[in-house]
Amino acid sequence: MRSRLLGLIALLATCTCYGQDDSLMFRKIADEIMLHGNCYNNLRVLTKTIGHRISGSPEAAKAVIWGEKAMKEAGADKVWLQPADVPYFYRGKESLELNIGGKYETVEALSLGNSQGTDGKPLKAQIVLVHNFDELKALPDDAVKGKIVFFDYRFRQDLIFTFEGYGDAVRYRGGGPTAAARKGAVGIIIRSMSTGEDDFPHTGATHYNDSFAKVPAMSLGNRTSDRLEQALGKGPVSAIMTSEAHMMPKLVHSFNVIGEIKGIETPERIITVGGHLDSWDVGEGATDDGAGCVQAIEIIRAMKALGIKPKCTIRAVLFMNEENGQKGGQAYADSAKSKNEQHVLALESDAGGFSPRGIGLVMPAAQKDKIKSYKELFLPYGVYDFSREEGGSDIEPMNSKLKTPLAGLIPDSQRYFDLHHTNNDTFEQVNHRELKLGAAVMAQLIYLVSEHGLN
Ligand SMILES: [Zn+2]
Repeated sequence: MRSRLLGLIALLATCTCYGQDDSLMFRKIADEIMLHGNCYNNLRVLTKTIGHRISGSPEAAKAVIWGEKAMKEAGADKVWLQPADVPYFYRGKESLELNIGGKYETVEALSLGNSQGTDGKPLKAQIVLVHNFDELKALPDDAVKGKIVFFDYRFRQDLIFTFEGYGDAVRYRGGGPTAAARKGAVGIIIRSMSTGEDDFPHTGATHYNDSFAKVPAMSLGNRTSDRLEQALGKGPVSAIMTSEAHMMPKLVHSFNVIGEIKGIETPERIITVGGHLDSWDVGEGATDDGAGCVQAIEIIRAMKALGIKPKCTIRAVLFMNEENGQKGGQAYADSAKSKNEQHVLALESDAGGFSPRGIGLVMPAAQKDKIKSYKELFLPYGVYDFSREEGGSDIEPMNSKLKTPLAGLIPDSQRYFDLHHTNNDTFEQVNHRELKLGAAVMAQLIYLVSEHGLN
C-alpha cells in the first residue's frame, strides 16, 4: 500500500507539467502537418532544382536564396541572412583503378571531403591492407613507405543505434591520412562508414596534421571493399589514384538563413530549431540534411497556419557549413553571445527524415526530467526514447558558449548510414509521412517549451 501511495505521489509529481490543452494542441499540430504539411514539397524543390550544395559552391548560394524565399512563404514574421565565411572544398575529376585479377579496372570511389588529391596526376602504388590502427602501428615503416594503406575497418552492424557504429568507424576517415602518412604512406583508401549492403562509397570530412604529408584519401563501397580484401588475401594489388580534390585557397562569403515568429509574452526568450543547408557534393543532400531544413521551415508554417501565438520567440535556422567547418553554427552562437540573447532551447534535426523515435537531451538533469515528464504526450506519435545525450553539431556552440540546453531529434537510425554522404542520398529516399511526423514532433516539443519553460 505504502509503495502504491509513493507511486501515486511520484506519478502526480511528474504529471503536473502539462494538461488536457497540451494533449489537444499536440493533436492539432500533428493534424496540421500530416494533412497540410509543405515540407515534402519544399524538399523536392531544394533537392531537384538545386541538388547537392557544398559550402562555398554556387549551389550553396542558390540554396540560401531558396531558403530565404521558403521561410517567407512559410509566413515568418521576419527573415534575414546571417553572414558566415566558409571553406570551399572542390572535388573535380577523380578515379580509382585497382588491378584486381591481373588488369586495372576503374571502381566506384570518392575522394574524402577536405582531402588533397593528386593534382589530377595518376599516383600508382601497391596497396597494404590493415584492419585497424593497431595493425598499422605494428607494421615496420618500410612495409608502408611508398604504399597506399587500405583501412579495411567494418562498420559494426551489431550496434543497434547506428550513430554508435558511425562514431566507432569514423576514426578511420578522420585520422586515416595522418596515421598512414606518419609511416611514409603516399595515399589511403578506406572502407566507407556504411551500413549498406551495396557499393556506394561514402565521402565525409577527413583531417590532416600539418606535420605530415597531406596524402590523397578515397573511400570504397562495401562490395568493392570486400573484393579488394579478397584479392589482397591472394597476392599484391596495386592502385592508380587520380584526383583533382583540394581546398580552395580563400574562404567564401555565405550565410545562415533565419526565419522568426516573435513571441507574444516573453519575446526576448528564444527557442531555436534548425538543420543544415549545406551538404556534401554528391547525391542531393536530401537525408543529410535537406530534411532538417524543411522540417524547421515547416514548424514556422504550421504554427502560423494554426494561429499559435507562442509565448517565446521561435527561430528556424538553416545553418551553413555543418559538414566541413561548422562556421554557420559558430556564427549563430557568436552573434547570440554578442547580443546577450536569452536562449531557452536549441533543437536540431540532422539525423535523417525518418520516423521520429526519440529526443536527445543535452541539459542539466532537472531540465531533462521536465521534458521526460511529457513522455506520455509523445508516445502516440511513436516517440519514446529520451535517454540519449544528442543535440546537433550546428547548435553545439550554443551550449559551449552560452550554456543553452540542446535537444536533437532522434529518428529511426537503421537506414541513415546506408545513404549518408553518398550519391544515393536523394529525395526518393525520404518518405513524406516520416518527414512530416518528425516535423510535428519538433513543433510539439517547441510548443511545450515555449508554454511551460524548462525550469
Ligand atoms: Zn548532417
